[in-house]
Amino acid sequence: QGHMHHATLSSLAIAAAGGPMELHEPTPVDYETYVAHGGYTVLQELLDGRRTFDSIVGALSDANLRGLGGAGFPAGKKWGIVRQQPHPHYVAINADEGEPGTFKDRWCMERDPHRFLEGALIASAAVQADACYIYLRDEYPKVNRLLQEALDRVARAGYIDRICPVYLRRGAGAYICGEESAMLESIEGKRGLPRHKPPFAAEVGLFGQPTLTNNVETLYWVRDIIQHGPQWFAGKGRNGRSGLRLFSVSGRVKEPGVKHAPAGITVRELIDEYCGGMAEGHSFKAYLPGGASGGILPASKSDIPLDFGSLDEYGCFIGSAAIVILSDQDDIKAAARNLMRFFKAESCGQCTPCRNGTEKAVKLLERDRWDQELLADLSQVMRDASICGLGQAAPNPIDCVFKYFPEDLET
Ligand code: SF4
Repeated sequence: QGHMHHATLSSLAIAAAGGPMELHEPTPVDYETYVAHGGYTVLQELLDGRRTFDSIVGALSDANLRGLGGAGFPAGKKWGIVRQQPHPHYVAINADEGEPGTFKDRWCMERDPHRFLEGALIASAAVQADACYIYLRDEYPKVNRLLQEALDRVARAGYIDRICPVYLRRGAGAYICGEESAMLESIEGKRGLPRHKPPFAAEVGLFGQPTLTNNVETLYWVRDIIQHGPQWFAGKGRNGRSGLRLFSVSGRVKEPGVKHAPAGITVRELIDEYCGGMAEGHSFKAYLPGGASGGILPASKSDIPLDFGSLDEYGCFIGSAAIVILSDQDDIKAAARNLMRFFKAESCGQCTPCRNGTEKAVKLLERDRWDQELLADLSQVMRDASICGLGQAAPNPIDCVFKYFPEDLET
């Protein structure tokens, strides 16, 4: 299934430059078709008591399903924690998908909304939720319509009455609202300012109540893991890793898009086996393994298994698996500077190391010669003292340029 096309910003940019392009509107799988292929069976079995909560959480744990929004927390464990808390319980689904280069959640919701929704309803039933909120990126108006239709359909099938109300909430374009606690604030109707942690959302979440937060993709895999068994999922990895993931691949490859690929695949394998190789006239120079926040690696490090934890020693992380491929025609310093401008624009401004640090960093990166000592110092303060992941990860690209692209610093 390696060749699913998806019109991304990058592919549009490549098409504008005369490259390959395929634009088509995906047809979503409708309720009847989904049901005809076994859809909502797992949910029905859970509701009828033919499947137990323990068996479901056990399957997710055996499959080693982790939080695919990027944090990688074991999904089964989180469900278990929330279920044990005093009521009321909430479920808050992160469909904000704001990480630059990430478009796999959109892919799930646009093509197979009921597979995602079944996962959401299984989660809600499993943790005995009193309400479920889907926080959707407002830049996805079509998905909003699709999900509303899908929700109306499952309501007619009686699932909403039997489980809990499901509310579809629109975000308003702030990157920070994809951060879990900022999302909760935003759902509550406040400004999206990240909270201090602990306490964690599983104990003190939405409206101060125990809340299960999951990303769209995490829930998208739930039905299949339970139906096909945890071994089906766990056995799919590569290079010593386990599981499947949806990689959003963009940039200078022949066929960018969402790729169903084994966790642990290397970027070299992704490009060659899933993306038809590099785009015409481009040679592989560097890649972003985790969107804007996950750092930049050189082509010489193209044999690292892409998975949670495997990039730590390089000062990088996979996050939401947004893989951006850069070529010899891209300017690494300009890319890093652009990323810092993004963080500066999206900083919520709540804490000084991030608010002032990103601003100061942009100024330093706009100089012809980068002051390594000053930038390293600034990076350290931002990492150590920022409240949330935005400020903590913002220096990743700069640190990587110093570490891996010394020759580019000379230009
Ligand atoms: Fe806001 Fe940045 Fe502080 Fe996060 S690190 S809370 S985005 S100012």
